[in-house]
Amino acid sequence: MDNAPPDTYDDDSQQTGRPVWLTGLNAPQEKAVTTVSGPLLVLSGAGTGKTRVLTSRLAQLVASRTAMPWNILAVTFTNKAAREMKQRISDLVGPMSEQVMLGTFHSLAARMLRKHAELVGLKSDFTILDTDDQIRLIKQLMDAEGLDIKRWPPRMLMAQFGSWKDRGLGPDKIGIADAGDIADGRAASLYKLYQQRLKTLNAADFGDLLLHMLKIFTTHQDVLEIYQNRLTHIMVDEYQDTNVAQYLWLRLLAQKHHNLCCVGDDDQSIYGWRGAEVGNILKFEKDYPKAVTVRLEQNYRSTGHILAAASSLIAQNENRLGKTLFTADDEGERVAISGYWDGYDEARNLSSTVEGLMNSGHSLNDIAVLVRAGFQTREFEERFLAIGLPYRVVGTRFYERAEIRDAMAYLRLVNQPADDLACERIINTPKRGLGAASLQTLHAFARSTEQPLLAAAGGLADSDELKPQARRALQRFCSSIAGWYQQRDKMPPADLARMILDESGYTEMWQKDKAPDAPARLENLKELIVAIEEFDTLGGFLEHISLVMDNETPNPEGEVTLMTLHAAKGLEYDTVFLPGWEEGIFPSQRTLDETGGAGLEEERRLAYVGITRARRNVHISFAANRRVHGLWQSSIPSRFVAELPKDHIKEDFTQGLGMSGAIGRAEPAMSDSATTRIGKPGYGPGWQRMASRSLGSPSAPQRDRDGWLQGTGKTVEFQKDERIFHQKFGMGSVVSSDADKLEIAFDKAGVKKVVASFIKRASEV
Ligand code: ATP
Ligand code: MG
Repeated sequence: MDNAPPDTYDDDSQQTGRPVWLTGLNAPQEKAVTTVSGPLLVLSGAGTGKTRVLTSRLAQLVASRTAMPWNILAVTFTNKAAREMKQRISDLVGPMSEQVMLGTFHSLAARMLRKHAELVGLKSDFTILDTDDQIRLIKQLMDAEGLDIKRWPPRMLMAQFGSWKDRGLGPDKIGIADAGDIADGRAASLYKLYQQRLKTLNAADFGDLLLHMLKIFTTHQDVLEIYQNRLTHIMVDEYQDTNVAQYLWLRLLAQKHHNLCCVGDDDQSIYGWRGAEVGNILKFEKDYPKAVTVRLEQNYRSTGHILAAASSLIAQNENRLGKTLFTADDEGERVAISGYWDGYDEARNLSSTVEGLMNSGHSLNDIAVLVRAGFQTREFEERFLAIGLPYRVVGTRFYERAEIRDAMAYLRLVNQPADDLACERIINTPKRGLGAASLQTLHAFARSTEQPLLAAAGGLADSDELKPQARRALQRFCSSIAGWYQQRDKMPPADLARMILDESGYTEMWQKDKAPDAPARLENLKELIVAIEEFDTLGGFLEHISLVMDNETPNPEGEVTLMTLHAAKGLEYDTVFLPGWEEGIFPSQRTLDETGGAGLEEERRLAYVGITRARRNVHISFAANRRVHGLWQSSIPSRFVAELPKDHIKEDFTQGLGMSGAIGRAEPAMSDSATTRIGKPGYGPGWQRMASRSLGSPSAPQRDRDGWLQGTGKTVEFQKDERIFHQKFGMGSVVSSDADKLEIAFDKAGVKKVVASFIKRASEV
């Protein structure tokens, strides 16, 4: 291992004798970088080089032999930021950078916990649970405790446990009173049970990673000392967004050496709603009385107009420390403000501006569109697809989100009842009481009879193979699908989709869900309906989607980035578009309703984060009419627009409001192309018959012709009175048979209707 300090000097630094990581730093930046011992706080505005100071300081620590790479702990906020910092450090100090303990709070804590898992009753190979697993587990516990999961959705408890963990509170720290009335006042005891169960499963959830390490550090001084001795220097980016658990974890680690360097900006604290405490950064000097505080005032990212606009906006927040920023950069372009007739217009104009930039030599990689809420990406995604503009979405693309995939599965199944993947996805979503065993039976039956799942479900629903509850559930499911199928060509697809989501209970499932992300999922579902409204037929819409989903490969020529403002923290782009600046959307009405004035200030900080992502150009826009969650509404520009200083903006309403409204809306990218119809290969007519039956058409006396088995060629002939054996009902005699459907008089279970694939001839048993 090469322990030599890095000696990278660039041409410039060769002459000045200064190492490359100090070259070009301004005086306060250099002070921060060269203050290598003791507590250090860099508290300053956006784009002033905080992240750059952290990386340079890391190089300085190693170069000055103050610390070896393995003595350094560097914490970033996202994995993306960790990767970027790793790259920057590797450029500065070479392969030794590998030895630095660098990552997000979660990844670092997970690494530590694997080493000491046994101290909290886990093995080192413990599983980290995802949200689905967590919910399943909580649900099992609630069932066992006899709690009503309709009244107290498991997600709600998951969120509560998560929030306790964010505050560093294990089950032993939660009193009955703290738990409120959630789950009939039993949240605290469920929390305890949940933690016990995780232990039995050798599993941890995300919140546990830090919580367990906190527990270990506070109960095993020897372990804490190992880390305190090893990690002599700690650095943290985006410190304003740490929660209590993260704060405590850092404080314990830094207790011995006090070499803790935190950088952040109180004006960019945007995760209050997720438990972040901006107070952590504000009390740093109190926590570490010997702290050196450095303020950076020069912004290197943005032009004069952009910086002035952002600074003046954030100055309207009362609850802030207040800072003055300046830039040596030129004034640049003013912040462009455009108003449009409607959202389509906005998307169309935005994409033409992007095309213009591209044609004049700008790289798409330097352009970002930042939105307030996830559902807003859809309109731009569709527009970009329609004109073939390469883009990527940070987070999940609209049509890949779980709730959209579920909704699409309903639509696919109604459009094409042989679509087994769709059927599988939603047959028990929302929960219909179809347990694993019933679903297994269904799959086995469908396989053995070579039928699509839905057709098989129709068959099974009329037999006695399943328990009555499961049978009824299947009957209802099949008849619902059949009902919607009948309506498929009779009503506009958006109305059909709305009806399906309501009648299936899918919308209600999310309405009842108290998890923090449930409202956003409902918003996405409404946005899906808006998307469908563009199409005349369901088939046309689905075909459009299959093309949307196909557009996956990254484009070598670069891509416009689409993401939420939250995801954009710490990043920078030449050109930033900030669409949808309308009251209710941004600031978000929900935030205002729930958290009032404090919420408004957090929204304004988000606006500040948005504007300060731009190096050269900012385009803010709003529309006079917008379809929000499926309803057209006229909207008024965000109050943040009015708060921008007149001298630094240019209002550009000419291309938008008024004129383009007359142009009318863009035609849907795809018209009627419904090609998938019932009766395609692989799908027999049986289900169609069942459909009409379950819709209430008179059932003929030969009801058994209603499609039990559709020409699979696997029909087995049974004779009347022949002795047979059934896996579930045992021995019996054939009363009557028709193709794959049999009536059997069982010796013990009485007369039942069963399907042939589950029985064997007694002679073959
Ligand atoms: P944010 O608050 O958005 O996280 P930040 O304070 O972390 O911003 P950086 O991302 O470190 O700021 O820096 C912003 C930009 O300014 C980067 O492109 C960085 O390389 C550049 N920069 C920082 N300091 C200097 C400097 N002394 N000379 C030239 N460019 C600099
Ligand atoms: Mg930064």
